[in-house]
Amino acid sequence: MQLEFYGAASGVTGSCHILSVGSRRVLLDCGLIQGGREDEERNREPFPFDPAAVDAVILSHAHLDHSGRLPLLVREGFRGPIYAQGATCDLCEVLWQDAAGLAEREAAYQGRRHPGAESQRPLYTRRDAARAWERLVGLRYGEHREVLPGLGVRLLDAGHILGSALVELDLEEYGVARRMLYSGDIGQYDTPILHDPTAVPEADVVLMESTYGDRLHRSREDTIREIGEIIAAARHDQGNVLIPAFALGRSQEILYLFGQHYEAWGLDRWQIFLDSPMAIEATRIYWEHPQLYDEEATKLRRRLHEMPRLQGLHLTRTAQESQAINRLHSGAIIIAGSGMCDGGRIVHHLKQNLGRRGCHVLIVGFQASGTLGRRLVDGAQQVRIQGEEHRVQAHIHTVGGLSAHADQADLLRWLGGFRGAPAVYLVHGEAAAKQAFQAQLRETRGIEAVIPAPGGVLDLGRLTYANRP
Ligand code: ZN
Repeated sequence: MQLEFYGAASGVTGSCHILSVGSRRVLLDCGLIQGGREDEERNREPFPFDPAAVDAVILSHAHLDHSGRLPLLVREGFRGPIYAQGATCDLCEVLWQDAAGLAEREAAYQGRRHPGAESQRPLYTRRDAARAWERLVGLRYGEHREVLPGLGVRLLDAGHILGSALVELDLEEYGVARRMLYSGDIGQYDTPILHDPTAVPEADVVLMESTYGDRLHRSREDTIREIGEIIAAARHDQGNVLIPAFALGRSQEILYLFGQHYEAWGLDRWQIFLDSPMAIEATRIYWEHPQLYDEEATKLRRRLHEMPRLQGLHLTRTAQESQAINRLHSGAIIIAGSGMCDGGRIVHHLKQNLGRRGCHVLIVGFQASGTLGRRLVDGAQQVRIQGEEHRVQAHIHTVGGLSAHADQADLLRWLGGFRGAPAVYLVHGEAAAKQAFQAQLRETRGIEAVIPAPGGVLDLGRLTYANRP
């Protein structure tokens, strides 16, 4: 039995690891490579294995960098089951349809510009996405499932987004038994809505993410106080508040905070717009899975039921409804994608509002270099949007502390839940984050963690690791 590191062994996107037990093959995640155009073209490269020869997939959570290549895997011949937590199955339907629709539109556009080019074929279609969705098999947290002879699986709550799971794998071959824990993405402790990441007592091998292995998030109290202050300032300046946010996870977290601090933040005096069809769908799915909430969220849900939702919350599905918000020069809080301002409806809101002194932009997520969001965060006085120059008169605020990922302290705390000394492999992080976390583990815990290279192989019987020869 062995594990081959394939995607997200270097970098943070395109998560995919290949597990072999006897003659059987199982993928742990099958994510999209995300980033610049060149990076994303790599999604078209053939898989380094025959998709038809893969027996099953175990999916940690719905985010596209973990799930987004599955429709392609199915199109290329995969016919096995895809195991995931039930809420993940629901979220994948929405995310894959959206990704496929986007790919179809982009391909049609490229087809008009460069007839005959490979890029005019969509990476996958909505039909491929629907066929992949049919292969999903929903599991409950804690349920043990024998997915193949010699391979048992149990999903545990990772506290990262709705349905996110730590994957516990019980492997057996030639009388040797091993337990491996694949972390997927690990959530922050004390995050809104969701439970804390589950403490796992027992494993021989831990494959863990290290996205923020080199930093600490700002505290939740500071973050909440800061958001309240920004809303008050915008009220005073008689402007709008713009919140670029990822449709899945961050948008729901913000709505939750609005529900929790509705009175304290004086939200009855604001019109709040959730201006993203995908965020509206994701919110519906969050609302339909109250069994996955933590205690505080369960209480708030009851209270919101009595309150006929957030008063003043508008769900704007159509483009016309979204355009109509442009008429409001003050008193509107607008939550829209994309999270990094490089596409989606937030773009037209920024065009309308950036030139206004009364406007406040609340940046709540990571902004990659090269994106409009990053230029705003870096303090640009002038930005170019869709070929037009815009002066930035609005106030730009960067609010830390709402990350869906564990920081260094959270990662250490989670790893501290294991008894004994499992072998630790660090994946899903930029090189600097992984190295910093590796050093931290060595100094504070005496653990020698391995940073595997793409193509590296972990022999699970002997518990030895080798880079690709
Ligand atoms: Zn994730």
